[in-house]
Amino acid sequence: MTIRGFSFDEYVDEVKTFHGHVAPGMVAGGFMVELALSSLPDGGFFDTVSETRACIPDAVQLLTPCTIGNGWLKIVPTGRFAMAMYDKHTGDGVRVSPNHETLDNWPQFKAWLLKLVPKKEQDTRALLNEIRDGGTSLFKCEKVSLDSSFLGGKKKNVSHIHICGLCGEGFRAKEAAEICPACSGETTLYMQQREDDVTLTATPLEKAIGSHALHDMTLIVPRKQKGPAIVKGQCITEADVETLKNMGKNRIYLEEENDQENLVHENDVAIAFGDTLGGEGVTVTRPPKEGKIEFEAAHNGLFYVDTERVNRLNSMADVILSTLDSCIPVAKGDVLAGTRAIPLFLSKPEFNRCMALAHTPLFHVAPYVIKEAGVIVTGTEVFEGRIKDGFLPYAEKMLVTHGAAIATHAFVPDDPSMLAAEVTRMAGEGLKLIIVTGGLSVDPDDVTQVGLEKAGVTVSSSRSPILPGAMTLLGKIKDTTVVGVPAGALASKKTAIDLILPRLLAGVEVTPEDVYSMGVGGLLVGA
Ligand SMILES: [Zn+2]
Repeated sequence: MTIRGFSFDEYVDEVKTFHGHVAPGMVAGGFMVELALSSLPDGGFFDTVSETRACIPDAVQLLTPCTIGNGWLKIVPTGRFAMAMYDKHTGDGVRVSPNHETLDNWPQFKAWLLKLVPKKEQDTRALLNEIRDGGTSLFKCEKVSLDSSFLGGKKKNVSHIHICGLCGEGFRAKEAAEICPACSGETTLYMQQREDDVTLTATPLEKAIGSHALHDMTLIVPRKQKGPAIVKGQCITEADVETLKNMGKNRIYLEEENDQENLVHENDVAIAFGDTLGGEGVTVTRPPKEGKIEFEAAHNGLFYVDTERVNRLNSMADVILSTLDSCIPVAKGDVLAGTRAIPLFLSKPEFNRCMALAHTPLFHVAPYVIKEAGVIVTGTEVFEGRIKDGFLPYAEKMLVTHGAAIATHAFVPDDPSMLAAEVTRMAGEGLKLIIVTGGLSVDPDDVTQVGLEKAGVTVSSSRSPILPGAMTLLGKIKDTTVVGVPAGALASKKTAIDLILPRLLAGVEVTPEDVYSMGVGGLLVGA
């Protein structure tokens, strides 16, 4: 049995040259490549995906034109010793993996594959003999179709090179970022240089007379006074020494003893954070107190936080940033976030890293931009006046809470055409939001989705992982968003629409992914 034209012994020699030693996995990988290519049409060009980083990629790169560098070989680690070769235009190909049904016939191969014996006890000669004798029969080959993300070969690169503000090296990123992932701590690669650490030199008070204080020192007299006893830069006198001793202090940080160039005082950190962390709709409560600063909502709206960057800031530096949850409605004046430096001074490099991370705001308040909506109440029982509608007042209350109003409304029976006509009318009037209620469950008379589709609405999600409110629907017709609210909303204090409507009114696109990610925290029963 040959491997791409090599005899077994020739291939083993090639492996030794390429890999440095005869790795059994790379020898086995040769047969996997052979099995895959002999199962595919002759003369075709095939991309490869390896499900492991170990050995198989080396065999592929030795035997085929596919390499990591040219993008024709990809590694998607599933932890399985398997690979697939496929036509990058159609995605059709074959997957080769160990044949577990016949594994017992090959005890050495089985023990190696499943790591049943420690490496040093492995009989490599016997193992290689089994791989040679078994050859391609050690593996099975099945037809597969690759996910569409693998089609089209090498993806067009949409990223650009940016210069990192800290290390000065160019790095590839999709969006303008002033700091590279290595400097920001996003990627942990090299041990952190401890230049970040600030070690302050303290001087005994007696030796401080005539020198200058490095920072303000607060005097607290219970129930009477709280103010600076010593201010930054003040020349220390004998009287100051007495005052400080009365405050329980015996040592002091002096300008003369510490390298001010490398230090950023907590209040300066707070002021800098105040200028950069908050975006639209966020104001700062000034001045900072003991290195702490707070942020308030400048207007009503939806509070948004870049959770990932906040997590990174909190993990990488001696500062903390504490915020409300993301995507929640806030009112003007609500406190949104607080931040402070933990030590009295940050080092310049640490401060610079924080500022680089906050090159764009970490949170903002999106104002409610949609001021009016159309409301359609479905259901023959309401249309015929058999039962009194409760939804219109409910919808009005929800809208008013977020600064919007009902622009137009309609009652329609369970008739898709009549519903479709109303949707078409309201979208035609330029309304950006239409709320439809009822007819969203699975009864035969529930025709809301049919009616919406008839009007040309593209439904992006017809359920939500929120209880109550599982049947909440979202769709779009041109630039009008349509939200379907199940009738049960009326009976509940809080439902899916309470989570979704504020986002829609803030003009935020709610994607199916957004909806699916509402499951955690989406249990509103009893809320
Ligand atoms: Zn950098």
